[in-house]
Amino acid sequence: MIIVPEREIAGLLGPADAYKAVEAVFGAMAAGRAVNFPVIREAIGHADALYGFKSGFDRDGLALGLKSGGYWPGNAAKGLTNHQSSVFLFDADTGQCRAIVGGNLLTALRTAAASAVSINYLARKDAKVLGIVGAGHQSVFQLRAALAQRAFERIVAWNRDPAKLARLADVAGELKIPFQAVSLPELGAMADVIITIVSAHVPLVLDNHIRPGTHIACMGTDTKGKQEIDAAIFGHATVFTDEIAQSISIGEAQHAIAAGIIKQADIHQLGAVINGKHPGRTSDSEITIFDGTGVGLQDLAVASSVVDLALARGVATKVDF
Ligand code: NAD
Repeated sequence: MIIVPEREIAGLLGPADAYKAVEAVFGAMAAGRAVNFPVIREAIGHADALYGFKSGFDRDGLALGLKSGGYWPGNAAKGLTNHQSSVFLFDADTGQCRAIVGGNLLTALRTAAASAVSINYLARKDAKVLGIVGAGHQSVFQLRAALAQRAFERIVAWNRDPAKLARLADVAGELKIPFQAVSLPELGAMADVIITIVSAHVPLVLDNHIRPGTHIACMGTDTKGKQEIDAAIFGHATVFTDEIAQSISIGEAQHAIAAGIIKQADIHQLGAVINGKHPGRTSDSEITIFDGTGVGLQDLAVASSVVDLALARGVATKVDF
């Protein structure tokens, strides 16, 4: 069995590798060749922790396994990350445990890769201004992955606590792209692409903020009750997601579905666009939404890539198991 500890991940897998892995598995999901199994998530009644696992099988990539972990709110006080996860991969032919891979950095890379894939396939080719709503842990990864998809000339960003925007401004400075802290209406008026990556329970980006032609990647809503954008936007947008079952239940689309603004049949898999089965954006004035809910197959895809890279570079730790 192979072990790739958390500390090795940064040296092995970058945003471009994560992009390739996530694009491929979204395509496999839409072709019916990769399946996510039901998600388990429970409050364990200890350390205030939420624990669960996401699992699945990709017959194309032969990735079988699960990501296990969750949220331990007391970790920060111990100098640890509150979100903790590990990925377990199994041999699809024998069921033997093939690898254990640190899942913390991988979660950020695979989440950023999902919005990046959506930008590549759905944003206008001439998109120039990137808007980021949120400045938490994930936001920096989102920014870096998005910047690789279009020739963005400006970054505009909003966060509830503006002081945290410094981490996004630092990345913009490093890449020599002008950065501006703005209000939410200004962000909507300026941005061609908007990524929302917050844990909010009320809509922040409103229908009257958005211009025609905008692509919005909603990445923060991954639980029932969370919300980042006005459900009314769904009424005049073309809507894509990673997994339709999650989009309508725990994703951003849950509110538009509950309000009867759209039906399940109005939501398309991003993988269908990747596979050439859906045209994606069809005009420069169309508003597109990607509801990125986060699926286990994304974790398995990036973890499999890490194992391949670790083996190829001779840095995989092998143990008898
Ligand atoms: P974080 O705790 O580091 O940052 C939270 C962000 O949300 C900050 O910008 C904070 O200002 C903002 N925020 C919190 N409550 C808010 C409110 N009521 N109104 C406005 N802004 C508010 O979290 P993170 O690790 O950056 O994750 C951000 C979100 O992304 C979380 O909701 C997380 O569950 C979600 N997430 C989704 C996926 C996925 O695959 N879709 C993967 C990882 C994380």
